[in-house]
Amino acid sequence: MFCDLLYCADCGSKLWSHVNTINKDIQYFSCSNYKVDTRGTCETRHYIRADAIEQVVMLELKRMARFLQSDEEAFADLLAQKTQKDIINEQKALQGELQRCTARNQKVAELYEKLYEDNVSGKVTDEWFMQLSHKYEVERMELKTKIASLNDRISNLGTMQQNKDRFINAIRRFMEMQKLTAPLLRELIDEITVYETEGVGKNRSQRIMIHYKFIGYIEIPECGSNYKADTRKGVAVEYITKSA
Ligand SMILES: [Zn+2]
Repeated sequence: MFCDLLYCADCGSKLWSHVNTINKDIQYFSCSNYKVDTRGTCETRHYIRADAIEQVVMLELKRMARFLQSDEEAFADLLAQKTQKDIINEQKALQGELQRCTARNQKVAELYEKLYEDNVSGKVTDEWFMQLSHKYEVERMELKTKIASLNDRISNLGTMQQNKDRFINAIRRFMEMQKLTAPLLRELIDEITVYETEGVGKNRSQRIMIHYKFIGYIEIPECGSNYKADTRKGVAVEYITKSA
C-alpha cells in the first residue's frame, strides 16, 4: 500500500518495492535511481523495509489522532494556520504568473500590430509576415488558455479551507479503524520522503518525512518516542519523523 508514496530525499526518484531474494517475507523499498541497482545517478540505496515504514506511519497517525482527541481546537487551529499560509503562498504564485501571462499577451498583440504595419508599408515580406503572424497566433491561443486556467485556480483557492475538515474526518476514520488501509493512506498522505540511514554501529537513524494531503508536513507538538526496529544485519535503526 506504500507503492507510489515513497520518494528518495536525495534525488527525488520514486522508491520501488522489492522482495528479499532469500527471505521472501521481507519486503523493502529502495531508490529506483540508485547507481548500483539500476545504473542510475543516486549515490545510496535509501533502503527501508515495508514493515518499518508501516509502523512509523501508524505511530505518527496515532500521535496525530491523540493530539486531535486531546485538544481539538488546537488541532483545528494548527491546520487552519497551515492552510491559510498555503492559500496565501499559492495565491501569490498564481497572481504573479497571471501578471506575466497578461503582460506577454499584450506584448504579442503589439508585436502583431507592428508586424502588420511593416507588412503594409513593405518593410516585411508577405512570406515573413505569414510565418511570424502564425507564430504570434499560436502563442496568443496558448496564453488565452493559460490565463483562463489561472483565473479558475485563483477562484478555487477558497475551497482549500474545506480540505481541513476533510483531513480531520480522515483522521477520525483512522481512529475508529486503528489500522491502515490503502484508500485511507491516500486520503491522508501525499508523499513520504525517505532519507538515507545515518550513523554507524548501534547509533543508526533514518529520517522519514511525511507530507500530508492538503497541509504538507506538520510538526505534532506531542513528542513521544521514535519507532526503532531491527533491520537487516541485525542492526537497530531509529526512525525520525521531525524535520532537520
Ligand atoms: Zn535517490
